[in-house]
Amino acid sequence: MGTAVNPDLLLNLRKFGVKDASICFNCGNCTAVCSLSSEDTPFPRKVIRYLQIGAKDKILRSPEPWLCYYCGDCSETCPRQANPGEVMMGLRRYLTSLYDWTGISRLFYTSKVFEVFAILFVAALVGLGFYFYHGPMLTDRVALNVFAPNRVIEVLDLIMLGVLSFFLLSNAYRMFLAVMGDPAQYPPLSQSAKQQFQNRLIRGIPVPIYISEFKQFVLHFFTQKQFGACGTSEQRKQWLIHLLIMTGYTTVFLLVVVGIRWFQRDEIYPIWNPIRLLGYYSTFAILYGTTYAIIGRLKKSKTVYEHSHSSDWAFLILLWLTTFTGILIHFTRILGMPLATYYIYVIHLMIAVPMLVIEVPFAKWTHQLYRPLIQYLMRVRERALKAEY
Ligand code: SF4
Ligand code: SF4
Repeated sequence: MGTAVNPDLLLNLRKFGVKDASICFNCGNCTAVCSLSSEDTPFPRKVIRYLQIGAKDKILRSPEPWLCYYCGDCSETCPRQANPGEVMMGLRRYLTSLYDWTGISRLFYTSKVFEVFAILFVAALVGLGFYFYHGPMLTDRVALNVFAPNRVIEVLDLIMLGVLSFFLLSNAYRMFLAVMGDPAQYPPLSQSAKQQFQNRLIRGIPVPIYISEFKQFVLHFFTQKQFGACGTSEQRKQWLIHLLIMTGYTTVFLLVVVGIRWFQRDEIYPIWNPIRLLGYYSTFAILYGTTYAIIGRLKKSKTVYEHSHSSDWAFLILLWLTTFTGILIHFTRILGMPLATYYIYVIHLMIAVPMLVIEVPFAKWTHQLYRPLIQYLMRVRERALKAEY
C-alpha cells in the first residue's frame, strides 16, 4: 500500500509541541536507550522518521507514541538535542486530535484562544445555570442539598457521563481501527477455525483473543506498570506521581459522578467513614501530584518538565483549583459558613465541569484510556499474528 506524503506535517505539528524533530539524523541512539522499546515495536526513532518524511498515514497507524511513558532518557542522550521524548509527547497530542472526529481536540491543542474560550464558555454555562436555577440559600445552617439538591446534580452528572463516554469511546474506536491495521495481515483461519469463529471475528481476529487478553487493559489502567519499567528511582517517582494523580482523579470522578448521593450530604460524616476517607485520599493524591508537577514545570526541574504545552498547564491548573476549592467547601461546611459554602460550591463546579467536559474526551485525560487500550490491543495483535488455527 502506498503512503500519502504530507510535506507540511512537521510544520503543522509545531503547535502540538513537536519542535525539534527535523534535526534528528536517525542515529537510533534513542531507540537503543529506551527501556520500553522492543523488537516488535521499536521507538522513538521510527516514528520520528515518519514525521520527517511526512508519512501522516503511518503515524496515524502507529501505536508507539502511546507505549512511551516519557521518562526522558532518550532526550538526555540524543546527540542532536532533537528531544525525542517531547516529540513523542507532541505526537500523542496530535494522535488524540486525529482520533477525535469532532475537531474539538485539534482546536483545543492548536489554539490558545479556543482553549481559554472553551474553558470560560463551559464555566459561564455552569455559573448561569446556578444563577437562574439554584435552590433556596438557607443561612441558619449549611444546607448544600437545598441549594443544589444532590438528586438533581446526580441526573446532570449521569447525562454528562453519557455524553462524555459517547465522545471518548467513539474516538477510542477510531484509534482501534487505526492501530489494528488491515485484517489481511493476520494468519488465515483454517476451515475448522472459520466454522468455530464464524461471526465472531473483529478486524480478522477471533473474539476469544480479545476477551482473554482484556485483563491487560485492567492491569495497565490501574497500575500504569510500564511506567515503572523505566529504570531509575527518579523515574519511578514520576510513576508514583502519575499514579497518585490518576487514582485520585478516578476516585473523585466515581464519587462525584456515580456516588454523588452519598458524597454530597448535609450531615458531616464521621472521620472514619469510607466515603470521607476516599474523599481525603483523592484530595491528598491530586493535590500532592499536581503541586509536584506544577512546581517541576515552573522550575523545569527535570527533562520531562522542560517543555510545557499550554494544555499541560490547563490540565494541572484546573485540577489543582478543583481540589483546592473542594477543600475550601469542606472547611466552610465544618465551620458552619452557609453563604461561603454556596458561593465556593458554584466556583468549584465552574472549574470542575470545564475540566471534565474538555479534558476527558478531547485532551490530556484521554491518555488514561488510550495508553492501557494500546497495551491491550498490542497484546491482542501479537497473539493474533502468532496464532496457528
Ligand atoms: S532523536 Fe536523537 S537519538 Fe534519536 S535517532 Fe534522532 S538524533 Fe538519534
Ligand atoms: S521518553 Fe523514555 S519511554 Fe519515551 S521514548 Fe524516550 S526513553 Fe522511551
